Amino acid sequence: MEPVTEAILNQFETNVIGNYGRFPLTLTRGEGTRVWDEHGNEYLDFISGIAVNALGHCHPHWVKRLQEQAAKLVHVTNLFYIPQQGELAEKLVQLAGPGKLLFCNSGAEASEALLKLARLHGRRRCGNDRQCYKVIAADRAFHGRTFGGMAATPLEKIQGGFHPMLDGFAFGKINDIDSFVSLIDDQTAAILVETIQGEGGIYVCENEFLQDLRRLCDDHELMLIIDEVQCGAARSGTYFAYEEAGIRPDAIGMAKGLGGGFPIGAIWVADEFSDLFQPGSHGSTFSGSPLACTAALAVLEVIEKEGLVDRVKRLGAKFMGKLEDVAREFPEHIVEVRGRGFLIAVAMRDDFMPFIGELRDHGLLTVGAGTDAIRFLPPLNVDESDLDRAIAIFRSVLSEHE
Ligand code: PLP
Repeated sequence: MEPVTEAILNQFETNVIGNYGRFPLTLTRGEGTRVWDEHGNEYLDFISGIAVNALGHCHPHWVKRLQEQAAKLVHVTNLFYIPQQGELAEKLVQLAGPGKLLFCNSGAEASEALLKLARLHGRRRCGNDRQCYKVIAADRAFHGRTFGGMAATPLEKIQGGFHPMLDGFAFGKINDIDSFVSLIDDQTAAILVETIQGEGGIYVCENEFLQDLRRLCDDHELMLIIDEVQCGAARSGTYFAYEEAGIRPDAIGMAKGLGGGFPIGAIWVADEFSDLFQPGSHGSTFSGSPLACTAALAVLEVIEKEGLVDRVKRLGAKFMGKLEDVAREFPEHIVEVRGRGFLIAVAMRDDFMPFIGELRDHGLLTVGAGTDAIRFLPPLNVDESDLDRAIAIFRSVLSEHE
């Protein structure tokens, strides 16, 4: 594998802040599940921009919709009505239930809006004196890198260097309802969890646990807030991952796959809470632009037209089954397979980073998750033959370790 050219390395070294550890690869073109590096080498992209490129690269319908909209109107401001925003909100309400949307540009911004919402709810419920502003989140959670998101992300790796954190967060353990019950006090406003913890290592909330959280929130008048930034947008085999549990949250965070590669985030808020934000209480310049909303509409159009929700459910289960076969063949390397749909992690016994490098050298791009796992995030419309090819590559890399 040829290295990244000296010129590009120098350009980055000199001009780009080093806040990322980068793989030694320069990607220059993509089509569907495939990407090519600057030397023309081809890779299967099972990172999908970390669960962003829901339709793979350059899906023709998505590209056409963006090109047409870019030639017409890209950005105005939320001082005006934006028809694409209204249309997208309507579609997301159809998916999430009675409520309203607020748009933003990223997952961290969605978390930020959700945390502000929790405070507004706490204030309405308790008044100014009692100060109900606390949020119970979860161990191994990841909600973004802003001060709110970071405070809800109890990892020294994320928080280190940025203390003091925003006040008012406590952390339970997913699938252990008692750990949440014991943290509730008379200042608690909300519970915030990812249905499937992504960055933390792909840990799935069990249906019963989500149902218990719903009951707990109802009993204590807390908002149940679900961060679906990574597991939503059909990645888990239902449009929202929490649907599997048959519950309805009070608010949902979205981003990543929502725009299929164009930056857009959103929160859905149930009717009961949707008047908490009033004119002037929140906003952001770029949010919900004609172009961003068109990108998200194009993703939803393709998801519907190509039946991707059912496809992910069917092929995700099959792919996971095949990874479990591989895990049984190589127990000396693999601890377990976790996840659902196309949000899957294979937990390794030893350092997973060398495996990620070797998979890359064999033409398969994957990314780590948590402290122990290789994450597989194919696009929702991946060909079954490419899933099989990924399994074959994984098997051959593991065999080389025998
Ligand atoms: N929430 C979850 C569940 C995420 O996985 C992420 C990103 O990985 C975020 C929030 C932050 O999103 P962004 O990187 O778009 O700010």
